[in-house]
Amino acid sequence: MQLVHDALVQSRFSNTFPRTVEMLCPHCLKEAMFEARPWQEHGRQMAASELECTRCENTVLFVQLLASDGTNQAGGLYCHPGFGGREPMGGVEHLHAMSAPLARSYESALKLYNHAEWGASSLIVRHLLNGLTARMLADEKAELSLTRKLEALPHDVELSRPLQDIAQLLAPSGTFGRQFEDESTIDKANAELLLELAEQLINYLVVLPGTMADLKARIATAPVPLRRGSGAA
Ligand SMILES: [Zn+2]
Repeated sequence: MQLVHDALVQSRFSNTFPRTVEMLCPHCLKEAMFEARPWQEHGRQMAASELECTRCENTVLFVQLLASDGTNQAGGLYCHPGFGGREPMGGVEHLHAMSAPLARSYESALKLYNHAEWGASSLIVRHLLNGLTARMLADEKAELSLTRKLEALPHDVELSRPLQDIAQLLAPSGTFGRQFEDESTIDKANAELLLELAEQLINYLVVLPGTMADLKARIATAPVPLRRGSGAA
C-alpha cells in the first residue's frame, strides 16, 4: 500500500470520497487521471474502491481510512499497487545543504526516472556527477573530464574526515568514555547517540564498501544494449 497525498485528489463525490485522482500510473508509468467506481465501506475503519487509469484502463485499488465519525481521515488515502517509483535517498537534505542546484538535478533525475524517461534521467545523472565531482575538487580541476575528475576524487578529497575525532569521544576522558564509568547515568538520549555512532561507522566501514562492490558486480554483468544503427543484430 502506498500513501496517496490528498493534494492528488482532483474531485470528490458529495460524500467527500475521492472521485478523480491524478497520479503516476503503476501500469503505464504515465501521469494519468484515475476515475473511481462507487466506494464501499468495510467495517467502520475503511472504505475501498477500484480506480481506473484513463490512459491504459487498468485499475488500481484505493483504500480510504475513516475517522471515528465515519468521515475521511485526512492523509488516509492509500493505493495498491503503488506506482513503485524510487523515493529520494536517505540523507538527501545534506545534498540540499551543500548545493541547491545539485539537489535540484538529483530531484529532476529521480522524477524523470519515475516517469520511465530512462535516457533523459541518465543524462541528468551524468550532469549531476560532473557537478558533484567539480564541487568536491579544487577549482582548477573543475574543467577536467568526468573520468579525470572521478579519478582525482580519492586523492584530493579527505575521505577519512568522518572518522576523525571518534577515538576521543570514546576515550576514558571523552564524552562517552566518562559515562562508561557508571552505566546507570546513561540515559535514552545518550544510548541513542552512541548506537547511531556505531551505525554510522558500520555504514562507512562495512555497508558502503559492500554495496559498492555489489553494484560494480551488477554493472559488470548487466547486458550491454546494442547501439542503434550499428547494424549488429
Ligand atoms: Zn495507466
